[in-house]
This record gives sequence, C-alpha cells and structure tokens, in this order.
Amino acid sequence: MDVYLDNHSTTPCDPRVVDAMLPWFTEQPGNAASRSHKWGYAARSATEHARGQLAERLGCSPKELVFTSGATESDNLAVLGVLRANRDRGDHLITVATEHKAVLDAARQAEAEGFRVTVLPCNPDGTVALQRISEAITDRTVLVSVMWANNEVGTLQPMAEITALCHERGVWVHTDAAQALGSCDLDLGAVPVDLMSLSAHKAYGPKGVGALFVRRTRPRVKIEPLQYGGGHERGIRSGTLPVPLIVGFGVAASLFDPDEVKRIAGLRDQLREGLLAVGGVEVNGSENRLAGNLHVYIEGVEAEALMMGCRSIAMSSGSACTSATLAPSHVLRAMGLDPDRAAGSIRFGLGRFNTEAQIEFAVQQLGAKITELRAMAHLYEV
Ligand SMILES: *Cc1c(COP(=O)(O)O)cnc(C)c1O
Repeated sequence: MDVYLDNHSTTPCDPRVVDAMLPWFTEQPGNAASRSHKWGYAARSATEHARGQLAERLGCSPKELVFTSGATESDNLAVLGVLRANRDRGDHLITVATEHKAVLDAARQAEAEGFRVTVLPCNPDGTVALQRISEAITDRTVLVSVMWANNEVGTLQPMAEITALCHERGVWVHTDAAQALGSCDLDLGAVPVDLMSLSAHKAYGPKGVGALFVRRTRPRVKIEPLQYGGGHERGIRSGTLPVPLIVGFGVAASLFDPDEVKRIAGLRDQLREGLLAVGGVEVNGSENRLAGNLHVYIEGVEAEALMMGCRSIAMSSGSACTSATLAPSHVLRAMGLDPDRAAGSIRFGLGRFNTEAQIEFAVQQLGAKITELRAMAHLYEV
C-alpha cells in the first residue's frame, strides 16, 4: 500500500478540479484578454466565475483578488509591492522567524533596498506573542506579515487578535494563508486582514496558480507590481491569465467542506495515538494547529533513516524546501528545538484522500521500523 502523508508539501488535484479544467486546455483556447471573439469572452467569463468562487470562499469582493503563479509570488508581491508603493507611510516591516522563505527572503530583499525589517522570535509552540508585535510597531511601520498557519508544524497564529492590534496602530496586515485555504475558515469579514496570499496546489487545486487578496476599501491598500506588461489584473500582475489553472483554482476553493476538516483531524488523531503508543514519541508544536498536521519527535531514531525505511509512506523531515540539506529547518530552530531533536522529528500532512485503512497501515509500518531502528542502534552501542 502507498500512503501519501505529505499534503503540506502539495496536495493531489481533486478529480472534480481536473474535470473542470480539461476543456480549457483544448476546446476553449481563448485568451481572457481577447475582446474580439467568443473564445476570448468565454475565457474571460470562466476566469471571472472562478474569481467569484474564490471571493465567496473568502468573504471578499472579486475585485480584491489578483491571480498570481502561487503563494511565493503573492508573498513577494505583498511584501515588496506594499513597501515600495507606500514610502510616504513609512519604511518598516515586521514579520516572524517561522514565516515561509517566500516572506523571509522578500523581507531580506526589502532590507537590501533600504527598508527596515524586524523579524520577531516565536514562542516554543510556534505562535508569536502579541506583546512582541505591539512593542515592535513604530510610527514608521507600514506592514506586519504573519502567516495564518505554519507549513511545518501547523501552528495557527492568533490572526484576529494580531489584525485588531495592528489596525489600532494604523498598520496593515498581510497573512500567508497557503496552508489555511484547504483547512480553515477564512472569513475576511471576521478577520479583516489587508492582504492574503493563497495557493491552489495546497488545497486540491493545480500547481502554478495562486492569488493575492488586496483590500480595496476601508482601507484601500496601495501596491506596486513586481512585473510590467499588458496591465492584466488591474495593472498589479501583468501576464496572460492561465485560464485552465484559474478555473481549477475556483472549483478547488468551492469544494471546501468543514465536515471534511473534522474527518481529517480524526485521522490525524488516529495517527498521533498510534505513534504515541509506540513509546518515546512526543508531539512538537501547538495544540492549536492545522487539522491535517502532525509533527513528532521520535526518540532514538533519525528521521532520514525512518523515511528511507518506509518508502511507501510520503512524509517529510524539516521543510520540503530545505530537505536537501540536513540542517534543522529555520522553523524548528526558531521554536528552539535542539539539532538532535530536530533530526529525530517528522512532519505528517494528512488530507482529503487519506483513509482510516491507510493510517492503520502507516502506524503499523512506522511502529515496526521505529522498533527495528532502535534495536539496531542499541546493538551498535553494545
Ligand atoms: C507552499 C507554501 C508557499 C509557496 O506556495 P507556492 O504556490 O508553491 O509558491 C508559501 N507559503 C506557505 C505557507 C506554503 O505552505
């Protein structure tokens, strides 16, 4: 049996998403910017329908959504685009050490351009303390960027409180919600952040498309594009719209189902209980985490050895983006995990297509391999 438990890295496309996309590759070749024939109009109406589906999911106006190539681009656009466009408001960005590299490296670039950047430390569970944000805000602060949900340990940040605090001080809030789209209630009315990054492929949509929510009223957030061209997406993101991908993104967003999230959390708990029963296993991170996320430390076992010994199970050590190196990820380091604990820690990401039977199989395989690796380590010591 093969079991895919790496849904934080990417999710499979839902078959309903694929079905909706197919005609837009072949029978419907139109460019959504072509205004002179019915193929162009059809493509345009398809992208606008998808924009509506995403807006419905988020509780915003379709006009506030800019399609991008994914959350990496959205994060870059949010951080650099807002800082560069609002020099009259200030020059200071605040973010957190556990953010995705797309935010942290964009922040580094901003620093190279002369902006000031504060990277806040996190609590041991991966959350950021409100007090720290409050203390870091100055009258030069333009933007605070805090992710909705962490892609490694699944920690959910207190976004409602962070947003209220920042707005009280006249500071805009950006959140990277790439991991949250498939798994959390996202209501821009209830949690009125000013910018939100999204990615389709973390939520059962296709790879290569994402969006940035940019608030248009109360307040209207000024943003500069990263690239120049045909003036698509109200000039914020030039480039021909990838119609099939956008259609798939819209369908993926419309398939969100809170009951499914509960089912996934149940599977996650099944996996957690199964692994804890092996003994010498501890959970890393916060109680308040993504439904599909489990991050565990397994005493006396190298994560890499366990992954190599269980090749029919997809899981991850560190973050997928840095797993080419064996250094602990920046997230685990920020949470204060020592290198040994980090090297013995594994991330599981459960999703829509996992079943109870798969989890049962995974627990049995992992349990047996953990016991075997520990016995070998013991023999070696003797
Ligand atoms: C995957 C991910 C990204 C990058 O998204 P892409 O669409 O692959 O560029 C950014 N932030 C978080 C939190 C992610 O999980």
